[in-house]
Amino acid sequence: MNIIVCIKQVPGTAQVEIDEKTGVLKRDGVAAKMNPFDLFALESAMRLKEKFGGKVTALTMGPPQAEKVLREAFMMGADDAVLLSDRKFGGADVLATSYTISQGIRHIGEYDLIICGKQTTDGDTAQVGAELAEFLNIPHLTNVTRLLDMAEGKLDVEAEIPLHVVDVRMTLPCLLTVEKGIFEPRLPSYRRMLATADKPIRTLSLQELEDKDEKHYGLNGSPTQVQRIFPPEVKDEKESWNGPAEEISTKLYGLLKEKRFLGELR
Ligand SMILES: Cc1cc2nc3c(=O)[nH]c(=O)nc-3n(C[C@H](O)[C@H](O)[C@H](O)COP(=O)(O)OP(=O)(O)OC[C@H]3O[C@@H](n4cnc5c(N)ncnc54)[C@H](O)[C@@H]3O)c2cc1C
Repeated sequence: MNIIVCIKQVPGTAQVEIDEKTGVLKRDGVAAKMNPFDLFALESAMRLKEKFGGKVTALTMGPPQAEKVLREAFMMGADDAVLLSDRKFGGADVLATSYTISQGIRHIGEYDLIICGKQTTDGDTAQVGAELAEFLNIPHLTNVTRLLDMAEGKLDVEAEIPLHVVDVRMTLPCLLTVEKGIFEPRLPSYRRMLATADKPIRTLSLQELEDKDEKHYGLNGSPTQVQRIFPPEVKDEKESWNGPAEEISTKLYGLLKEKRFLGELR
């Protein structure tokens, strides 16, 4: 079974500056880590491989330093790694990101299953998995909480959608996005770190992809335009009241009504 796991390098801190002119995150010089949700995707792939055999390929799209998360994936047991990296991919919105990853996966070729995390901790849209599946024209299921069984080209999974838990039989090849907690991610192995330190990572640039039209990638391929980006206004005015409970509760009720949090008492 060939499994591709999509992982993203995200800032290791919430203190990331934004270029107000371009609306782009200033990622240079900021400590980075693997998107925590992608650890669950990797662990899911490893469990399937351990049970049914096969190969796990970790794939990331990002700047050259994103190689670090692929090395981490090796330490968790991935067999192969692909870095999609080109300056022309920069500034991509979700659509362009998903399209670029789909082109990378078409280049890799044969696969049975693609696993993504539920969302990232920076972009946070939770849309890449679904859009990627659409570009590849394969079925997908999001919010997967359990892998139940696999036989004869079908994978049974459980997913939690709002208000319901569903059991679904997916036909391979397909794409899943997995929830945090599907499995406990294993720790990176020191032994594997030593064993894979020189393991080559395949790097794909625009030139290797089937679609070489620059208009489909990066800022050029991103229909979403950031018009303005600004930190939300922080209101930290405080007021404290002292007095008997009845007086304070009447005052509080009046204030909530004035601010239109409450209507008239019946
Ligand atoms: C309007 C707009 C403009 C943007 N402009 C920029 C910009 O100029 N520069 C910039 O750096 N970012 C930019 N972003 C953010 C960038 O588009 C997103 O980070 C990217 O599309 C991935 O989306 P996400 O982080 O929300 O992923 P989600 O959809 O939340 O991620 C779900 C899963 O998809 C997979 N995945 C997501 N991204 C990757 C990846 N890169 N490689 C491999 N797997 C991945 C992972 O498995 C992840 O768990 C912009 C976003 C928007 C909405």
